[in-house]
Amino acid sequence: MSEKLHITGFSKTELADFAQNIGEPKYRAKQIFKGLHERRLLNFEEMTDLPKAFREKLNETAMASTLKVESRYISTDGTRRFLMKTLDNFPVETVFIPTENRDTICFSSQSGCPLKCDFCLTAKLGLLRNLTAGEIVEQIIIVLNDVYGIGAETPHGTNLVAMGAGEPFLNFDNLIKALDIMSDKEGLFIVPNRVTVSTAGIVPKIYEFAKLEKRPNLAISLSAPNDELRDKLMPINKRWNIEELLRAAKEVEKTLRRGERFTFEYVLLGGVNDSDVHARELANLLNECDLQKVKINLIPHNPAEPLEYRPPQREQITRFKDILEGKGVSAYVRRPRGRDIYAACGQLAAKNSPNLVQILSV
Ligand code: SF4
Repeated sequence: MSEKLHITGFSKTELADFAQNIGEPKYRAKQIFKGLHERRLLNFEEMTDLPKAFREKLNETAMASTLKVESRYISTDGTRRFLMKTLDNFPVETVFIPTENRDTICFSSQSGCPLKCDFCLTAKLGLLRNLTAGEIVEQIIIVLNDVYGIGAETPHGTNLVAMGAGEPFLNFDNLIKALDIMSDKEGLFIVPNRVTVSTAGIVPKIYEFAKLEKRPNLAISLSAPNDELRDKLMPINKRWNIEELLRAAKEVEKTLRRGERFTFEYVLLGGVNDSDVHARELANLLNECDLQKVKINLIPHNPAEPLEYRPPQREQITRFKDILEGKGVSAYVRRPRGRDIYAACGQLAAKNSPNLVQILSV
């Protein structure tokens, strides 16, 4: 690894210390912060408001950018998948999902993932390593610049979802630090209520999350209505079961903002967890768990070879949703995005396929 500091993941305080350490006044920190996060410049040379000698000093001691875009795929539905590499050559995947109202960036918190959710291709990679706060922030800057142009306004605003590769709560500190940096109004200004973090159920971290002063939204991936099935689909359930998970969810529920609802996600796997019986069991579970404002996002499984699961039948998705709603649980079906370029939920496995139309970044 390079000796230079990757300062894109530095807080303003850390930047002030850094400036001082290289013999510069503290106000330089603000200039660098704005250059990196407001103007989204990942090259010190482009920060032409800084004196040339200072830019040279920055180049000698620090890095603005460490991720390299290896490939970039564009789906027929406009979704873009970026496959990047860290300096030490680990894959990082980020997905841009355009929508009518507001665009969404789905970012990764880890390279690979240590959890073994049976329906997810990322699980096959295992954990390669946690991403640093700088690598998390940089994914967002790279995608915004690619889609809108360097530093250009984002016309619809941006939502962020920590639903790419990795279990965000196993990289809690770096994730929270990155989100903090990105919420700064002198930077990207993506505030916590435009961010959703999705967890497979790392219960102690859910309690910690509930205590955050400025917390993002939370989604818990449930994907089974009972422990027996969840143990098989999401082995993390053997460590913290559904009862413990729902107890932790209750803590977060106490802190819900006005209009916010507690979100569960449920990956529908054809013939596995999508029957009428499962739907009724799920509705009863959610009705009995004492959570008041719950909604559930149903995510039809996206085909991901070599996984043998299949997507649910279209009619069964509707039946599943109707049963939930009939029992008073709000349910939404997530439209699959970017399936053709391996960008959809559960498909991220750093695939670089020659069969895909690849468009490299400028
Ligand atoms: S679904 Fe999420 S937590 Fe589970 S293995 Fe895949 S990336 Fe990891």
